[in-house]
Amino acid sequence: MSFNSSLNEALWIRQKAIEHTDLFKNSIPLIASENLMSPLTREMVISDFNNRYAEGLPGHRYYQGNKIVDEMETRVEELLRRLFNSKQADVRPISGTNANQALVFAFLHPGETILTPSLDSGAHISSAEFGAVGMRGCTIKNMVFNTEEMKVDVEGTRKAILAEKPKVVLFGFSVFLFPAPIKELKETIDEVGATVWYDGAHVLGLIAGKRFQDPLREGADVISGSTHKTFPGPQHGVIVGNTDDEKWKKVRRGVFPGVISNHHIGAMAGLGVTAAEMIEYGESYASAIIENAKTLGGELYSRGFKVLAEKSGFTESHTLLIDVKSQGGGKQVAEVLEQNFIILNKNMIPGDTNTKAQNPSGIRIGTQEVTRIGMGKSEMSHIADLMDRALKGKDVKEEVFQLKKNFQEIRYCYGKDKGYDFVELYK
Ligand SMILES: *Cc1c(COP(=O)(O)O)cnc(C)c1O
Repeated sequence: MSFNSSLNEALWIRQKAIEHTDLFKNSIPLIASENLMSPLTREMVISDFNNRYAEGLPGHRYYQGNKIVDEMETRVEELLRRLFNSKQADVRPISGTNANQALVFAFLHPGETILTPSLDSGAHISSAEFGAVGMRGCTIKNMVFNTEEMKVDVEGTRKAILAEKPKVVLFGFSVFLFPAPIKELKETIDEVGATVWYDGAHVLGLIAGKRFQDPLREGADVISGSTHKTFPGPQHGVIVGNTDDEKWKKVRRGVFPGVISNHHIGAMAGLGVTAAEMIEYGESYASAIIENAKTLGGELYSRGFKVLAEKSGFTESHTLLIDVKSQGGGKQVAEVLEQNFIILNKNMIPGDTNTKAQNPSGIRIGTQEVTRIGMGKSEMSHIADLMDRALKGKDVKEEVFQLKKNFQEIRYCYGKDKGYDFVELYK
């Protein structure tokens, strides 16, 4: 009896997965931190790699059975070094936050100071007082941010570096509209001897596609990242570096045994597949993402949306940030759009305080996923029109379904044209 009913629970969950898949099959996905895995990547994630343990590094494991894992992991690291033209790569962090924890552990001791952007200028929670940096007991000082341009203020931040003498300078945003001024600040950072850490969680795919900025050439010691935002891989993390052996040794130890035990080998194999696909298609993918974001920004702006950073051209990445105070606030706007199967998130904008997290003044949009399924300029204009009419009270569901029907295949990956026929998006 109870046996039967618990199996029914299992089937109920499977049914939810079917419904959820269907929801996204029919929706326009505009969340800036999400993407779709290629079919071959998906296969790796559920392969037997996913069932195994391989603590440590290739050749220095604690369990038997890792011979093939070692070969594969070594190759995945090579692929990441090649893609980012880096001296070092660690492919074991299991998420972007986990990669950040490892770097905090590697580069900072309790009481030491880190200079980061503030939360309302778009920083991620993992670099805040109540995230990884705070847990390590570090002192957080903020960079100066120009909210008009939505860029780091170089001269203000230069003064902050000289005044605070931080151990680490962290460039990283969850609303990453424009390249960070690493080059401009490198000399000052070197003067105080700080380590330069670039959190590229959001823009990793754009960097891989050589279209945003090249942090390792501009002076960053390491880049941490999520591998499932603009980088269209499995949910996982990565660290790549161009730093000295001493620092890199600390990074390795920060990852294991610092913050992980096993490292999700199926996802790591999937990361390798995606890296290979990005070596092949990354540049055209990143170009199309950015072009779509600029187009969508312009189309929304011309319909009266308050797209931020107007004077700087709205964005140079996949992301747009929009002030929707006059349209009912971030919460209401995101909910009305959700009712019409346009999926995005409410977001803080400069000037919002932490207490506004549940009803901030803005929404955030990302174009990486719609680009991945082949949408281009004319679809960006169509999406802006649908958003506009939905927010004026029109029901645009059916039009959204019609539009989405024509975009059900994943691009920029190993697919049909290479004889691999499992390319239907949501099978
Ligand atoms: C998303 C994000 C992270 C965290 O990544 P997860 O993979 O979700 O853990 C870290 N830093 C920044 C800037 C991010 O935007």
